[in-house]
Amino acid sequence: MSTDTTPDVRDVVIVGSGVAGLSAAVYTARADLKPLVLEGPEPGGQLTLTTDVENYLGFPEGVGGMELIQNGKEQASRFGAEFAHGTVETASLEEHPFELELATGETLRTRALIVATGASARWVGADGEDDLMGYGLSTCATCDGAFHRGDDVLVIGGGDSAMEEALFLAKFADSVTVVHRRDELRASDIMAQRARDHDAIEFRWNTELLEIQGSQEHGVTGATLVHHPDGHPTDKLESGLAVERETVDVGGIFYGVGHVPNTEFLAETPVELEEDGYLRTEPGMTTETAVEGVFGAGDVMDPDYRQAITAAGTGSMAALDAEAWLDTRGTTRDLQPVVEVKLDD
Ligand code: NAP
Repeated sequence: MSTDTTPDVRDVVIVGSGVAGLSAAVYTARADLKPLVLEGPEPGGQLTLTTDVENYLGFPEGVGGMELIQNGKEQASRFGAEFAHGTVETASLEEHPFELELATGETLRTRALIVATGASARWVGADGEDDLMGYGLSTCATCDGAFHRGDDVLVIGGGDSAMEEALFLAKFADSVTVVHRRDELRASDIMAQRARDHDAIEFRWNTELLEIQGSQEHGVTGATLVHHPDGHPTDKLESGLAVERETVDVGGIFYGVGHVPNTEFLAETPVELEEDGYLRTEPGMTTETAVEGVFGAGDVMDPDYRQAITAAGTGSMAALDAEAWLDTRGTTRDLQPVVEVKLDD
């Protein structure tokens, strides 16, 4: 039986407000667990960076990424989920209830914790990327590739993600040019070979993206590339070496330079992480982690599928797992906490 029934302890805190966190919020709220959803530095997650989502089931005409997130938030709120801005800096997960230290200095206490902090796509730091992300610049070919029928597009990166993006884009685009900073791919042989064998895919070796041209009104129109025969041309440029520059006309640019799971706040906890930082969940169909009462959902625990719909699925699983776990501890639903959460901003 649970002894952690003090009134300032939440039943469930969900860290992250992307599609996984929202799905977990809908389920836990409907189970009357009054979840608190913490919205971190990227409220709404990666979907807010994309325009139309055409592969989420139930929207034959597609749905805006932002709209999907806003609807999810409304849906969760309708059942009693609460939302607050807050970034978790550290977590104490050795004992129950768990304690989360927020950037504001505030401490939250919770019986169950759902980690849905996602993974952030790496950006390369090219000029213009802040303005044009979502306007012809994308980190997700599956989401945005179909908008580039007949375009010439660039894919930045040399790993499996970049090859996958290039192969997907080759179905729509006139030409796909993979821009890689070295002369050797990091991708697996099979993915690399598939991309090399494709007629519509070309490679620019030892080349990097320096600047993106375009506007939010007209989308991406061009890119400035830099090349150095020894690779890593932007590093060479920064150290004062001469590089070749070229401006190319393109209608779209896709970043495929990897993702970084947002698990820094778990580094010193008994929750286990994979070597590349992804949250490790227990084997089989479960969202349980190495710590009882901590559950993972969405991209933070999924380096492979990374789709909105799979994130929503694991969000609902985490909620059901958390509910079942709370039930085994005998937590009563009528001891709802009242926690004042200050907004970060
Ligand atoms: P990754 O293997 O880390 O590759 C990232 C690529 O981006 C590397 O080629 C890297 O260049 C380049 N890069 C990183 N930062 C850059 C920057 N600032 N500017 C320019 N280029 C940059 O990441 P990933 O491709 O996302 O793959 C992650 C994991 O998921 C891998 O284990 C992969 O096998 C797996 N995955 C598998 C599949 C599949 O099998 N279907 C699909 C996707 C991902 P360098 O090579 O020079 O470091």
